[in-house]
Amino acid sequence: MTRNCLLLIGLFLFGFGQDLQAQRRNRTSQPTTATSTPIDSAKWRAEHYVVDRDSAYADPYIGLRKLMGGNRRFVENKSIKPRQDRAILMSTSTGQKPFATIVGCSDSRVPNEIIFDQGVGDLFIIRTAGQVMAQASYGSIEFATAVLGSKLIVVLGHQACGAVDAAVKRPEVPGHIVTLVNSIKPAAQKVRAMGMGEKMLENAIRQNVIEQVNELRDLDPILARKYQKGEVIIVGAVYQLSTGKVEFIPETMKDLPAFKAPAANSSSK
Ligand SMILES: [Zn+2]
Repeated sequence: MTRNCLLLIGLFLFGFGQDLQAQRRNRTSQPTTATSTPIDSAKWRAEHYVVDRDSAYADPYIGLRKLMGGNRRFVENKSIKPRQDRAILMSTSTGQKPFATIVGCSDSRVPNEIIFDQGVGDLFIIRTAGQVMAQASYGSIEFATAVLGSKLIVVLGHQACGAVDAAVKRPEVPGHIVTLVNSIKPAAQKVRAMGMGEKMLENAIRQNVIEQVNELRDLDPILARKYQKGEVIIVGAVYQLSTGKVEFIPETMKDLPAFKAPAANSSSK
């Protein structure tokens, strides 16, 4: 009886010590706010649009909210730079569970973890100029989905994309750059046919993302099947360089399938 009591007290003290360590970690890794709201309290989390990571990994619609919340923090200068300390490095060294896959442009002005205010192990990112995809990109996206269990895919274009601009203007380009131009050309031609005038580039950027979202939704043998079953959600967005805002494209957000958890989750390594 006495021994059991001592054991319980010991466990309590051990747990309490761990809580204190976690709180200290939070204090050192997250900036204090101007208000007196205690850091990581329910109120603070609501004010910073914090969405639980495990829930975001389990459900792509919660993942979408997490990305939107992180971008809102970034735009409002409230970034919390989550999960970037040594404890997270240690815990992620044995495996990863990214809650979202981002297919974005290589442009140096679009740093994904920063603009979505996410941390280590959160985002699986495929980047090429104009987010043009080919076999290696497809394989990487399928790996994130089928092996790592990521259930949300966001194709992310951006304002003033040089690759799309080249597809619109079609200048002489050297070397393999023509591969990028040729891939984006159909979207540029569609916009040109619609007579978009001065908004040509802006609309070509948007159209390019829409075409790439459709490309992934139709991609056999993994993504098309998973998307139709509602096991993965694929949407598109455009990042505004001048404001820091990620704007999700309404055409890619409508008629999305209801989420259905896969029957047996694959390895999370
Ligand atoms: Zn670009």
